[in-house]
Amino acid sequence: MDTTRHKEIEIEALKVLDDYEIADPVVNVAKIAEGQNVKIKEIEMPEGYGNVAGFYDKNTKAIYVEKKDPPQRKLFSIAHELGHLILQHQNATVLFRITREDAAYPLQEKEANSFAAHLLMPEFMLRKYMQKYNLTKADYGTMAKIFGVPVSSMLHQLERLK
Ligand SMILES: [Zn+2]
Repeated sequence: MDTTRHKEIEIEALKVLDDYEIADPVVNVAKIAEGQNVKIKEIEMPEGYGNVAGFYDKNTKAIYVEKKDPPQRKLFSIAHELGHLILQHQNATVLFRITREDAAYPLQEKEANSFAAHLLMPEFMLRKYMQKYNLTKADYGTMAKIFGVPVSSMLHQLERLK
């Protein structure tokens, strides 16, 4: 994904946060889903779908996430699926648990992950909370708790912060 596309996705995510007047963590993805007329359902993934963390079903207008996943993972899965929806991806609706960064990993998956990261951990919010609690990038564990996201996602997002 090039820098321009990355920037476009960031702007899309910021627009959503602005539309729903969300300025603080944990980002209320349920409110966004509701505004998009999409239901969130927690289910146990069927046999053979063990590596699926979430998917969006156009017919039922619902995002399905794995019930047994930790809340941080569910939050990311929902934000990822909202990314597909808001970025108007046509085919990629299934989020696989293993997120590979290799070239074979579909572009739309990278875009949805980028959207999720910017939606759940936008730069302005990161800076606001680092300042509020006097934290640095080294406090990614604490930041992950505040934002309700997986530690690895927070680490990655803070590393990108200039
Ligand atoms: Zn996906």
